[in-house]
Amino acid sequence: MVENKQVRQPNNPRPQEWLAKDHSLQYIADYKPFNFVDGEGVRCSIYVSGCLFNCPGCYNKAAQNFHYGQPYTQELEDQIMKDLAHDYVQGLTLLGGEPFLNTQVCLKLVHRLRKEFGHHKDVWSWTGYTWEELQKESADKLELLRNLDILVDGRFLLAQKDLTLQFRGSANQRIIDVPKSLDQGKVVIWDKLVH
Ligand code: SF4
Repeated sequence: MVENKQVRQPNNPRPQEWLAKDHSLQYIADYKPFNFVDGEGVRCSIYVSGCLFNCPGCYNKAAQNFHYGQPYTQELEDQIMKDLAHDYVQGLTLLGGEPFLNTQVCLKLVHRLRKEFGHHKDVWSWTGYTWEELQKESADKLELLRNLDILVDGRFLLAQKDLTLQFRGSANQRIIDVPKSLDQGKVVIWDKLVH
């Protein structure tokens, strides 16, 4: 007899069901300055704590907990700005956890980055939300989206896992050029995508 195994899927929120103000404790799971793996060029990456998607096979399960890690501090923010100031650093990367459920921290950071560096530094973010879902989301999420250069979107889906993909773990995820997509009102894929 063939066993009918139910494969658990990630959670699917209704529009604006999950809000950073109800969930975020403004905790940071990790900060990795000067890395080469979280986007294009040399980057400073901040991993915020807390995610509700609960994707089976999540690459950073510990960081799904909103209590994980350390509180975000002004000292850390000052250090990140100092690290970003190096000429060889291309930009900031937001990961998690879920950056869009930690908009208090992420917005503070990207607003300061834009104030100090304008568009000389870029901002990449990963999210479990899809681009289409984010269009129906809360004002804080839309404000964060407007401040990004690149968004890697969508849940991690085990059934579509592919470790050969650039900067993403499953084939449903997309590397999206945010300014062009907002301008054209549809998803525009990063023009440097190789695979
Ligand atoms: S969206 Fe990302 S961080 Fe959240 S559960 Fe899925 S894989 Fe993990």
